[in-house]
Amino acid sequence: MNLELSEEQAAVKTLARDFADREIAPNAVAWDRAESVDRAIVKKLGAVGFLGLTIDERYGGSGGDHLAYCLVTEELGRGDSSVRGIVSVSLGLVAKSIAHWGSEDQKRAWLPRLTSGEAVGCFGLTEPGTGSDAANLTTRAVKDGDAFVISGSKMFITNGTWADVVLLFARTGGPGHKGVSAFLVPTDTPGLTRREIHGKLGLRGQATAELVLDAVRVPATALLAPEGKGFSVAMSALAKGRMSVAAGCVGIAQACLEAAVAYAGQREQFGTPIAGRQLVQELLADIAVDVDAARLLTWRVADHIDRGLPFATESSTAKLYASEAAVRCANNALQVFGGYGYIDEYPAGKLLRDARVMTLYEGTSQIHKLLIGRALTGVSAF
Ligand SMILES: Cc1cc2nc3c(=O)[nH]c(=O)nc-3n(C[C@H](O)[C@H](O)[C@H](O)COP(=O)(O)OP(=O)(O)OC[C@H]3O[C@@H](n4cnc5c(N)ncnc54)[C@H](O)[C@@H]3O)c2cc1C
Repeated sequence: MNLELSEEQAAVKTLARDFADREIAPNAVAWDRAESVDRAIVKKLGAVGFLGLTIDERYGGSGGDHLAYCLVTEELGRGDSSVRGIVSVSLGLVAKSIAHWGSEDQKRAWLPRLTSGEAVGCFGLTEPGTGSDAANLTTRAVKDGDAFVISGSKMFITNGTWADVVLLFARTGGPGHKGVSAFLVPTDTPGLTRREIHGKLGLRGQATAELVLDAVRVPATALLAPEGKGFSVAMSALAKGRMSVAAGCVGIAQACLEAAVAYAGQREQFGTPIAGRQLVQELLADIAVDVDAARLLTWRVADHIDRGLPFATESSTAKLYASEAAVRCANNALQVFGGYGYIDEYPAGKLLRDARVMTLYEGTSQIHKLLIGRALTGVSAF
């Protein structure tokens, strides 16, 4: 793996850091308190090309490789995880799935809108009764002539109330993953209602929603990939999606490092800066090691994808490590800040709240241990 960034990758990283410092970081605390990111950020993300990374320019994409995508998601995560999540879902899970699995008509209908930020996408897999066990989802799509009629509900859907299109997973066949199909459902289709979920521990600026589908009728052309291939669509999206969650976690950890080092250098106790205390340096060193390890594991996934190598287990490894590391880093940073870490005028508390969900979504830490264990032994312990 080459650890040197190309000129193009370095330029994208600088662009993303400047964008995050200018458009995101100054607003992050206010958006967190208001429980709503300013929606104008989506068009800005589109204009700068961050919603089109890795997508073909013919469909409005901005090209770039997966390392460039990681660099951008890291910088966005360093600024505000709620904004990073908008990109990881609308581009990473939805637009990339359409680019990979979609028909020419579907690509033309959705990709230019998603990459420009004119439209937002959401990913509807989780249900109230099925989270980790997604293959047992119960939302049902029944064929009716040239259409499907879909009923059921989806839980914890990122971008849910903002989205113009849901990449929705529903059962068209028998039990288990072979009975699942994927659909592109416009959110203004009659019978689809959305309710925003408030009171989240972190990612408060993000629109997380419950979706209810009551006899939602879509044409058969709404199927993404052949009938019965929905679970493959979901798993291929998540294998790459986990890399962008990991990159977002590196951003959180990097923000923790920068904030904690700066604070330790200026906060004086016992007559000198606390940065000179060995136990404070231990906290800082632990954060620094986690940042490096998480970043390298994440870049390895991008390197494998860009070189056409298998990457699913590497992606689980990076997501597991980086998400747990982000929580540790934020906790250590909060310790460096002392009591000031506990109030939201200082960054550590929000970083910890935002980090906490990373070990839960796109596969919990336990699920990733089972995936890695299965790859090592050939035996499923699910
Ligand atoms: C803020 C937020 C945003 C989200 N965004 C989306 C989204 O955009 N789209 C979407 O589809 N979903 C989304 N999710 C859902 C998320 O992916 C699920 O919450 C996650 O998959 C876990 O499912 P669950 O919450 O039902 O927990 P459960 O599956 O009920 O798990 C509960 C606990 O049991 C453990 N567990 C479960 N099965 C096993 C097992 N076999 N062995 C060992 N331990 C096990 C889990 O690790 C966990 O600790 C989001 C969730 C949150 C909180």
